[in-house]
Amino acid sequence: MFPPETVFLVVDDMPTMRELVKAQLNSLGYFEILEAEDGEKALNKFLEAQNGAKPVGVIISDWNMPHVSGLDFLKQIRGNPQFQNIPFILLTSESEKEQVTEAVINGVSQYIVKPFQPKTLEEKLRFVWLKHSKKPK
Ligand SMILES: [Mg+2]
Repeated sequence: MFPPETVFLVVDDMPTMRELVKAQLNSLGYFEILEAEDGEKALNKFLEAQNGAKPVGVIISDWNMPHVSGLDFLKQIRGNPQFQNIPFILLTSESEKEQVTEAVINGVSQYIVKPFQPKTLEEKLRFVWLKHSKKPK
């Protein structure tokens, strides 16, 4: 599983959703959490963090957001060869589920359908950790 010092980037246009994900991460023992409200701000925060002492280890992003969507954010991350192996989890609503194929093609690590329980987040994180730890860097 991801070590406790892992830095998470939580991206959602709804502050209540960000709070919920943060609370769930806290309950799993993770306290290094960055936040952004859309894909554009998230990319800026991500790039800033990757150049600093505490780079982001896992991205958890909403799909449906103004300016730059979660999918476009994913494309920007995966478009850079340096960031191929950054775990990226997309949060979707039931209605967006069909679009998930596009996210899979673009290299999403896993997706979670909202609303979800802390147990689901933990299971997905474990799965993503296994998936990414098997890949050569
Ligand atoms: Mg949204």
